[in-house]
Amino acid sequence: QSPSTHFYISPEVPAKILKIRPKYGHKGSFGHALLISGSYGKMGATVLSSRACLRSGVGLLTVYCPAVGYNILQTAVPEAMTLTDPEDNYTSQLPDITTYNAIGIGPGLGKEAATRELVSKLLETTKVPLVIDADALNIISENENFKKSIPEGSILTPHPKEFERLAGKAQNDYYRLTLLKDFCQQHNCYVVLKGAHTCIGTPEGTYYFNSTGNPGMATGGTGDVLTGIITALVAQQYSPLEACILGVYLHGLAGDLAKANLGEQALLASDIVSYLGQAFLTLN
Ligand code: AMP
Ligand code: MG
Repeated sequence: QSPSTHFYISPEVPAKILKIRPKYGHKGSFGHALLISGSYGKMGATVLSSRACLRSGVGLLTVYCPAVGYNILQTAVPEAMTLTDPEDNYTSQLPDITTYNAIGIGPGLGKEAATRELVSKLLETTKVPLVIDADALNIISENENFKKSIPEGSILTPHPKEFERLAGKAQNDYYRLTLLKDFCQQHNCYVVLKGAHTCIGTPEGTYYFNSTGNPGMATGGTGDVLTGIITALVAQQYSPLEACILGVYLHGLAGDLAKANLGEQALLASDIVSYLGQAFLTLN
């Protein structure tokens, strides 16, 4: 009998993964995450992702963003430390990355030439797996060498269009899952293929389907929230697969709790952040 390859993320799965916060834990116990994010006009993505990261239990968060983001971040997310790039409107220089337990990159990043260089340097020099989203994915998609240098154990979080740029066009949903498996195996990474039925692909060739979420979440910024959540979980030493499973489940559940109070039409990405606490509570 061949082992199972398809799994469904029912509530007991994330409940088993969630770690208890030790009584004598301090902020150094829960990891230091770095989020590289933002460009002129897209600092909202950075704010959403940062808040989601902080609401997901990380000990410390440093945000690296263009200079234009400094006042925005320090005001909207006072809990985060903010480092800025020499450029005003986009990121161009990779900061010192030696002190972080997890690095998330992509939300609102843009695709300036210098930002592409930054992504390339990050892929070459990082010692920790990355959480890669949005324009960082788009930058990687355009260069075969970048794809080959995705660090082992990294987590990629494309929506279907980003996945198509990354792994090619799929005639149908079934074939897309085949492409997902091939990509994960070839690049030794985890891919969270987002959608109404988010599916996690693994280097082992397994699939995990999420059970939470609703169409109210089909609105700008919700993906940036997921990036922040998963980055926080990786920083707290959850394995990449655990971080993906717990992350997509909590993200969808927070969306479902928000929907119960606000309905689908009015739901905002920031509401998902607000309900993350209640989502965590259901797992205790
Ligand atoms: P992005 O396109 O990067 O902003 O990501 C959108 C996020 O919202 C992903 O996490 C999707 O899984 C989620 N989402 C979008 N539409 C739906 C839907 N109809 N049902 C459940 N989740 C959704
Ligand atoms: Mg997105």
